[in-house]
Amino acid sequence: MDSLTVALPAPRPLRLADSALFIDLDGTLAPIAERPQDVGPDPRRTDLLERLREGLSGRLAIVTGRTLEDVDRILEGRLPCVAAVHGLVFRECDGTVHAPPPHPGLGAATEALRAFAACDSGLIVEEKGASVALHFRLARGRAADARAVARQIAAETGLALQEGDMVEELRTPGPAKGDSIRTFMQSARFKGAHPVFAGDDATDEHGFQAVERLGGYGVLVGRPRPTHARFGLRDVDAVMAWLEAAR
Ligand SMILES: [Mg+2]
Repeated sequence: MDSLTVALPAPRPLRLADSALFIDLDGTLAPIAERPQDVGPDPRRTDLLERLREGLSGRLAIVTGRTLEDVDRILEGRLPCVAAVHGLVFRECDGTVHAPPPHPGLGAATEALRAFAACDSGLIVEEKGASVALHFRLARGRAADARAVARQIAAETGLALQEGDMVEELRTPGPAKGDSIRTFMQSARFKGAHPVFAGDDATDEHGFQAVERLGGYGVLVGRPRPTHARFGLRDVDAVMAWLEAAR
C-alpha cells in the first residue's frame, strides 16, 4: 500500500481573513517525544500560535489526544479553545469545560494496564480522566503484547479502543476529533469560516473528513499514507513554516 501512496501537495499559506484553524499537538506542533511528559513549553511556538489566534479573530482551536492540563502546560495556558482527549473533553473559547462522566470500567482497565506495565520499565500508563493510555515507544518489543492486552481489556469493559502511534488508549465512548470540530464550527465565532485541520495521527482522519464535509481541507503531517487530507507537510518544522506564512 505504501508504495502506491504519493506525497500530497503542500497547502497554500493560510488565509487569516476567512479560515478557521484546527490543529493537533503531538507530531504536528511538537515533535513526538519518547515519553509524553518530555514535551514542554516552547515560547516561540506559543507566540506564533497567539499571533495566529489574533489574526484569525479567535478562530483557532487545539484538537488533541492530550488532557486539558497537558495542553495548558505545553502551550502555557494561552490557547482557550481546546478539544482534549481526542474530542471527549471540550473547552469552549469562553473557558466552559464539557467532559463526560468517566466510564465505570476505567478503574479496572487502569489496574490491568498497570499490572501489565510492571513487566517493563519502558511501558508507561497515562491516566487521562476519561481515558487511560498505555505507551510503548520505549518498549517496542512489547508492542504486540501491549496491543493484545488493550484489545482484551476493551472487550471485557466496553471501553472504546483507540490504537495510535506506539500507544493504545482505552476511552470512555463518546465524541471524537471530528465531532469537536463540528461543534466549534457551529459556534458564533467560527460560523461561516473555512475550516482547516492539520494533524499526523490515525485518529486525525476523523477530523480530516469533518473539515472536508464543512467545505474545508485537511493537512496530513508526516509520511504519506492513504488519507482523507488533501494536502501534506513533511514534519513539525514544515508546519511551523506554513503557519509563519499565514496572511
Ligand atoms: Mg498527533
